[in-house]
Amino acid sequence: MNALAATSRNFKQAARLLGLDSKLEKSLLIPFREIKVECTIPKDDGSLVSYVGFRVQHDNARGPMKGGIRYHPEVDPDEMNALAQLMTWKTAVANIPYGGAKGGIGCTPGELSISELERLTRVFTQKIHDLIGTHTDVPAPDMGTNSQTMAWILDEYSKFHGYSPAVVTGKPVDLGGSLGRDAATGRGVLFATEALLREHGKSISGQRFVIQGFGNVGSWAARLIYENGGKVVAVSDISGAIKNSKGIDIPSLLKHTIEKRGVKGFNGADPIDANSILVEDCDVLIPAALGGVINRENANGICAKFIIEAANHPTDPEADEILSKKGVVILPDILANSGGVTVSYFEWVQNIQGFMWDEEKVNNELKTYMTNGFKDVKEMCHTHNCDLRMGAFTLGVNRVARATVLRGWEA
Ligand code: GLU
Repeated sequence: MNALAATSRNFKQAARLLGLDSKLEKSLLIPFREIKVECTIPKDDGSLVSYVGFRVQHDNARGPMKGGIRYHPEVDPDEMNALAQLMTWKTAVANIPYGGAKGGIGCTPGELSISELERLTRVFTQKIHDLIGTHTDVPAPDMGTNSQTMAWILDEYSKFHGYSPAVVTGKPVDLGGSLGRDAATGRGVLFATEALLREHGKSISGQRFVIQGFGNVGSWAARLIYENGGKVVAVSDISGAIKNSKGIDIPSLLKHTIEKRGVKGFNGADPIDANSILVEDCDVLIPAALGGVINRENANGICAKFIIEAANHPTDPEADEILSKKGVVILPDILANSGGVTVSYFEWVQNIQGFMWDEEKVNNELKTYMTNGFKDVKEMCHTHNCDLRMGAFTLGVNRVARATVLRGWEA
């Protein structure tokens, strides 16, 4: 199922459980604004190349719109819409004062040089600078972008509006980025997983984990799970997949991936077919790559008892149904991966306050937000007699609906 259809289906199910007015439901679903811009840059050899950039601003009832900028070949309007909508519900679940947005450029960043990426980022920023801002829409890193991308956006934006560090989050610490932001999504995954396992009388140590994706989120999650006594038995990334039933030595794997730019060839594990990573034997499966990877084709083969959605929309609604019949417990994306945007919020707060927090404060606050998010979602599960995904969706949608009604529609 297409990402937008899947996300909208979950939203509509939550709206029904909440008994939302149908007009309100419609207005919450339609994005506030969709921006599509043409970005042409000279390549290093002097030839011209054109890309299409997007920013979908979904909702701002609870505060400035917030969400990442993705550089990936699969960036298209439907995917951006789905991801922007998910950000609206995610910031509401996390209970941070933001709405939702998402942007991106349809490109393969690995095929561009650093100076080409810089030119592309600056042209994109020139096209959208009037529509983003500290109190309107605050971009952050996502797949294919990083703190350097944010530094270029900040610099280009500041040429038009004066120096404005809070216009982006996930910046380098030297430019006002927050300590702990780089690890934040992975650390949030750890805290959310701990909360879920605790409820089932288990802990990280003693569980066997499989992680699909070894980028920023997957590698930080792996490192923190390893440090907390969890056994990571299989890992994959675009270079391939590896397995060691006795547990992979994650610090050595991290060294290997930096040197070899991928998990492939790591000598502390055996190579396996990358397509079989999701059905490997384990207790906890963590998809930390693309959307839609768990679908009706592979859902029946999944052995995990728990799925922690570190990626955005990794599970198709059809797979959700199959997995729920099998008794698999799924911790949904809008709760599980909300650690990144939560520390983005801390970064924005620090920039506005002009006061820097130490890393311990960032991590302690993050733990509080993740634990409260889990508690609030569980409460909605009890109220509406539903699973964790619907618990999270009803929580997020209800908070946004309440803010929308309170602000009113008077012209
Ligand atoms: N890209 C991240 C996400 O999907 C972080 C967004 C942010 O920090 O604004 O949640």
